Amino acid sequence: MATDPIIGIDLGTTNSLVGVSAWPGPTDLPRILPAADGAHLVPSVVRIDDAGVVVGALAKAQAAEHPRGTIASVKRLMGRGLEDAQADLPYLSYKVVQGPGQTARVQLSDGRLVSPQEVSAHILRALRAQASAALGVQVGRAVITVPAYFDDAQRQATRDAARLAGLEAVRLIAEPTAAALAYGLGLRASSPAQTIVVYDFGGGTFDVSVLRLTPGVGATATAPGADAFEVLATAGDTHLGGDDIDFAIVGWLAGQLQALRPGLPVPSDGQRRALLALAEGAKIELSKSEEVGIDLARALPEGSGGPLRVTLTRAVLEALAGPLIERTIAACGRAVRDARARMEGEGIDAVILVGGSTRMPVVRRRVREHFKIEPYTAIDPDEAVALGAAVQASILSGATTGAMLLDVIPLSLGLETAGGGVAKIIMRNAPVPAEAHEMFSTQVDNQGSIRLNIVQGEREMAGDCRSLGVYHLGGIPAMPAGLPQLRVEFRVDANGILGVCALEQRSGRRLDVQIVPNHGLTRQEVERIERESFAFARQDMARHRIADLIATGALDLGWVRTQLGRYGAGLASEPRGRIEGAVATLSELLERARGDWEAVAADELMRAKEALDHASVPLHELAMTRTLQQGEANEQQPGGKRASP
Ligand code: AMP
Repeated sequence: MATDPIIGIDLGTTNSLVGVSAWPGPTDLPRILPAADGAHLVPSVVRIDDAGVVVGALAKAQAAEHPRGTIASVKRLMGRGLEDAQADLPYLSYKVVQGPGQTARVQLSDGRLVSPQEVSAHILRALRAQASAALGVQVGRAVITVPAYFDDAQRQATRDAARLAGLEAVRLIAEPTAAALAYGLGLRASSPAQTIVVYDFGGGTFDVSVLRLTPGVGATATAPGADAFEVLATAGDTHLGGDDIDFAIVGWLAGQLQALRPGLPVPSDGQRRALLALAEGAKIELSKSEEVGIDLARALPEGSGGPLRVTLTRAVLEALAGPLIERTIAACGRAVRDARARMEGEGIDAVILVGGSTRMPVVRRRVREHFKIEPYTAIDPDEAVALGAAVQASILSGATTGAMLLDVIPLSLGLETAGGGVAKIIMRNAPVPAEAHEMFSTQVDNQGSIRLNIVQGEREMAGDCRSLGVYHLGGIPAMPAGLPQLRVEFRVDANGILGVCALEQRSGRRLDVQIVPNHGLTRQEVERIERESFAFARQDMARHRIADLIATGALDLGWVRTQLGRYGAGLASEPRGRIEGAVATLSELLERARGDWEAVAADELMRAKEALDHASVPLHELAMTRTLQQGEANEQQPGGKRASP
């Protein structure tokens, strides 16, 4: 039996899940690890305030009372600068400001700044604890999924979050790839290459990806080889989801309300929230039923009159949601067109549905009509990604054999050249791990240092791409322009993380960097936060120990005081004086520790407790003797009057 499973985590914008596969035994199927209350989904919501940190369902349920301290959808900020995140800000209920190193930071109501990585780390820590509790072993390694389009900075930020949560991210994989793995695609090495569409329609985002699965890459007569997943293309809309369908229903409900009760004032925030909850509930019901009754009075203040029932039919819902669903279908068309160039004439072999909104019958119907293929729906659409991550985790841990993954580079990687252009070194959609190099030289005579601006993006000018970092290769001896031979090599590892090596071949000057993106945390920052979290962990432990000592010390004191009252008169004055001294010392320390736990050192409390234990040995003995005598006395006098102690 493996002792240390690798878990699979779907770290989602709205909800997160954790799963495991092939554990404890290799034949155990992939499964989601529930929280103590049995829930599978952990809302990706974190509240940070003076009282501490609350993660998940509770933080979500109490969000209305703590609008500024509650952080939802932090995934939208991962690895991004404030400028990149502008489009997302209107959707976030908390304040986002520019932090050090061009990073977006969340500003809490007390002014404190926290990085998106730290917020995500709280979610990951909760998932890790949930998995450890469910499996009964400490879990320290995970495969974590990221959207296929996440760039280097966003992937780095995800890894940093894992590290802060005490998890080693052994692999980051693309969400659609995980969904395909959950369906066992890629585990049947004998089938021919397949093209798979993953249609992921969640609460706030829509993504469609086209994958190519090539089974048994590199197979030999004796070894099965690996299954390669390439993400051929992705498209989508990061602000399109089930929430938008809810808003459309609220608009319809508000119209009904106006018609039934003309002259009602504009709904307050609270009423809008109540209407939204009614709308979402009705939408979910309509995935099963043809119509649903809604009592609008539930969204009005008490005393606004009797019930106000309206009926929402599935047909009306489908009309309201129709334009939104058509936008997803248009994105499917774009993704397939983009992928076509690399598809070599194949058709689509499978369509997988992921995300809660794909439970709507109209969504399933439109996808079926568009692709002319029956979509895969056997796996719970909320769980597919986490289950797939768990499958990949079991492959990496050696518990499952078969599929290896090849993800692709989402955006081209290159170097800024003289004049501000970009020389692309690794092209978009190249499978990872990838390696490529280019030769460069200098533009001016006697150039002693070469500036390397590493960029990611599809645009031609470096200024229009994202700069991942600027480095300098110095110490180049004086040479005429064009003579130095600079070999720049880019290597992208299996996680999609870039390392660059620049070598000037005439002088042997060399630069090796692991790219730490501008928009991520610096290594130093990660280390500082890690140190701080260790320091907090130590502080938490010290506090815990004091609390234990206060509790057990109070019990000891209570016992000694009672026994002193009963038997104290039977003790000689010297031992009795020692006990009274020890009681006084311990109770004074306990008093102080109750007022302020940091006012007393745990060791001092411990010593005072031990001193009392030691001093009260004669009292223990006396109490024991008296109790025994009393027992004997009782034995001798059946039915007689009990001697009082
Ligand atoms: P996700 O982001 O994948 O967790 O999906 C959440 C979205 O799925 C929310 O907008 C939910 O309202 C929606 N959803 C969940 N269950 C259903 C259902 N049975 N029918 C329609 N929408 C649903």
